[in-house]
Amino acid sequence: MEIITKINDLREFTGQVVKTGASVGFVPTMGALHEGHLSLVKRSKNETGFTIVSVFVNPDQFNDPADYMKYPRDIERDAALLRNAGADVLFHPEVNEIYPPGEEIKSGWDFGYLDKPMEGRFRPGHFAGVARVMNRLLGIVEPGDLYMGQKDYQQVLVVKELIRQEKLPCRLVMCPTVREPGGLAMSSRNIRLAPEQRPAALSLYPALTRAGEMYKAKTRIGDIERITEERFNRSSHGARLEYFELADPATLRPAADNADSVIACIAAFAGDVRLIDNLIIS
Ligand code: AMP
Repeated sequence: MEIITKINDLREFTGQVVKTGASVGFVPTMGALHEGHLSLVKRSKNETGFTIVSVFVNPDQFNDPADYMKYPRDIERDAALLRNAGADVLFHPEVNEIYPPGEEIKSGWDFGYLDKPMEGRFRPGHFAGVARVMNRLLGIVEPGDLYMGQKDYQQVLVVKELIRQEKLPCRLVMCPTVREPGGLAMSSRNIRLAPEQRPAALSLYPALTRAGEMYKAKTRIGDIERITEERFNRSSHGARLEYFELADPATLRPAADNADSVIACIAAFAGDVRLIDNLIIS
């Protein structure tokens, strides 16, 4: 596996690869890798000829500077995991490489409603930062296939819309959420959970599955949301709910009763660790 930190070196390297006719798969990450990330790498390895993984903690998408500072980083461990998973390139640029001082980097897309609810509401500026770094990375890597996780479902929709607006020749493949045995969605932030915060973290997924059961039992959307919130506030081992929403998976607008497809999305804090999860319930 090559470890590359400079854009020009990456372009030169991938240029040679593309000449051989190999397709390029890309897995963008912020590092502190876990099985969820590695599932994307495996999928890319199965479907493309050459897999590039980026590890870049993007300062631009953190609405809370303290969250950026506390974000876990361990590049040595990440490199070992990626080598073991069979990635071809680890792209690990410095902030100045992605955002050279004085250089204007494109931003300011209009995503309509997609970046307004849920994460958009509670993390102002987050998706503007995601779109900016993704447009930059996609312009550098120029992948044919982009692998992203369903765990960040709203991010998948925003990036899909970015690809559409920018007319990039790139297919976005959404991969299933990988969970720990108790159901907790794997996340780099889970490392920061103290043992006593785990029960709170473990209460997100059951809230989603119970909402699914209520939906199948024809409970009205408004009632499911109310019951879930009440139950969560009562018995989530101290987890603090930020939002719980049932939405249309294509538009993220509030779900209608009897809708064919519905996604349940949740965000909550276990201590100072912010966790998100979602489940397509219909
Ligand atoms: P991150 O490093 O958190 O920016 O995540 C990088 C990519 O990995 C994103 O596309 C995430 O959606 C994806 N990802 C993170 N956690 C998981 C998980 N538990 N299962 C599947 N994909 C994940």
